[in-house]
Amino acid sequence: MRRILWFRRDLRVHDNPLLSQEGDVLPIFIFDSAILESLPVNDRRVTFIFHSLLHLKSALQARGLDLALFYGKPADVFSWLLQNGSYHDVCASGDYDAYALSRDREVSHLLEFTYVHDTYIFTPDEVLKKDKTPYQVFTPFYNSAKAIFNPAHMKEFIPVSQMPIDFDYTSIHRIDMHGHTTLPIALESIHFQVQNLTDHQKMPPDEKLTLFSQKLAHYQHNRDYMILDATSSLSTDLRFGTISIRAVLRWLVEQKKQGIDTEPFFRQLIFRDFYAMLLYHFPHLATQNFRYRFEGIPNEDYFKAFCTAKTGVPIVDAGISELLKTGEMHNRVRMICASFLTKNLLLPWQWGEAFFAQYLMDYDASSNILSWQWSAGTGVDPQPYFRIFNPTTQTVSTAELNSADFRKKHYE
Ligand SMILES: Cc1cc2nc3c(=O)[nH]c(=O)nc-3n(C[C@H](O)[C@H](O)[C@H](O)COP(=O)(O)OP(=O)(O)OC[C@H]3O[C@@H](n4cnc5c(N)ncnc54)[C@H](O)[C@@H]3O)c2cc1C
Repeated sequence: MRRILWFRRDLRVHDNPLLSQEGDVLPIFIFDSAILESLPVNDRRVTFIFHSLLHLKSALQARGLDLALFYGKPADVFSWLLQNGSYHDVCASGDYDAYALSRDREVSHLLEFTYVHDTYIFTPDEVLKKDKTPYQVFTPFYNSAKAIFNPAHMKEFIPVSQMPIDFDYTSIHRIDMHGHTTLPIALESIHFQVQNLTDHQKMPPDEKLTLFSQKLAHYQHNRDYMILDATSSLSTDLRFGTISIRAVLRWLVEQKKQGIDTEPFFRQLIFRDFYAMLLYHFPHLATQNFRYRFEGIPNEDYFKAFCTAKTGVPIVDAGISELLKTGEMHNRVRMICASFLTKNLLLPWQWGEAFFAQYLMDYDASSNILSWQWSAGTGVDPQPYFRIFNPTTQTVSTAELNSADFRKKHYE
C-alpha cells in the first residue's frame, strides 16, 4: 500500500502516529504558498519551521525514510503527486481551524484522507456535555475532561517498519500555475530570510522539559510573574508538534510520582484543548462575538501607538517591544496588553488578535482568538464589565520584588 504521510503540526519522529501507519510511504511537508505569501520575508516562525524540518528530515533519514519538501497550494501539490504516481491515501493529523478544515476537505476530494489523532489530548467531540453539546465554560469542561482522561490519552505511538517511496528528496518542489520546478533546500528558495532565534527558541523541547522539572513545583505560585521565568516555554513546540502532547503528559505523570502537584500545569494544557474544541464547534468565533454586541470603537492612532509600543504604559510597551523583537510574550503580559487594547483603548479585539497573529512564535488560531475573546469579554463566557487588568497594579515594583514576603512566597 502506497501512502503519503503529510506532516503539518507534528514535526517530529518521536511518538508520531504517522510513523505507525503500515505501508510504502512518501513523507512530505508543504510550504503552503497561500499562507506564506501573506508573511513578511523576516517572519521568525518560518525560520523555526525550516530548522525543525531539517531536524525531521535527518531523523527520518536515520530510520531509512526521508522528507520530500513542496512549495505551493496543498491541493495543487496533491494533484501533481497523483499525476506522477499512484497512492492509496494520505495520512495526516489534526488541525481544526476553518482554513485547515477547508484545505483538508479539498484534498480529501482528490485522495482518500486518513485522519490520525495527535495534536490535542482529546478529539473535539470527546469532552461534551451530557446532552452532547459543547461546553462553553472552562471549569465544567475541565472537570469533565479530568473524569474522562485515562492512560490511553498518553499512549506512545510505536513506529512500524515502513518502506520509503522512490522520490527526489533533495530539492524543494515548487508547484504553481507554471507547473513543476525544483529549488535548492534553503529558506531563500521560498523567499524568506534566516532570522536569529533566541536561545529558548533554539532549545530542543526535551531540554526545556528538563529545565522545567525544577520549576514545576512552584508553577502555581510563580507562573503569573514574568520576572520569575517560571513557565515551560513549550507553546511553540506544542504548536508545531516538535514535542508530542502525550510525551508531555507522560513526563507529568513521572513528576506526580515524585510527589509534585502537577494539576496547575495540567489545567493549562487542558485550556489549549478547550480553545481548540470551541473554535471547532463555533467557527464564527474566529471573527465574531458570541452574543455580546459591543464591537469596539475603531481608532487608528490608538492602534498605531499600541503596535509600536508607544502607549506610555510601561508594562504594555515592554510587552509589545518584546513581541516585536522576539515573537515571545509572557501569558500575564498578553493578558494585560489584551485588556488594555479592549478595555482602555476600546479598540475591536479583532485588531489585537490580528496583530498578535503576525508576530507570536506560538501563534495558534484557537488559543489566540479565544484568549482575545476572553480578554474582551465577548466570547462564550462573557464578562464584559469587570474583567479588566490594571496595568499599574499588575506591575511588580522593585521594592515588592525585594521584599521578604515575595521571596518567601516565590523562591522558597
Ligand atoms: C491575548 C492572548 C493571546 C494568546 N495567544 C496564544 C497563541 O497564539 N498560542 C498559544 O499557544 N497560546 C496563546 N496564549 C496562551 C498563553 O499565553 C501561552 O500559551 C503561554 O504564554 C505560553 O507559554 P508557556 O509555554 O511557557 O506556557 P505554560 O504556562 O508553561 O503552559 C503550558 C502550555 O499550556 C498551554 N497554555 C498555557 N496557558 C494557556 C492559555 N491561557 N490558553 C491556551 N493554552 C495555554 C500552552 O500550550 C503552553 O505551552 C494567549 C494568551 C493570551 C492572553
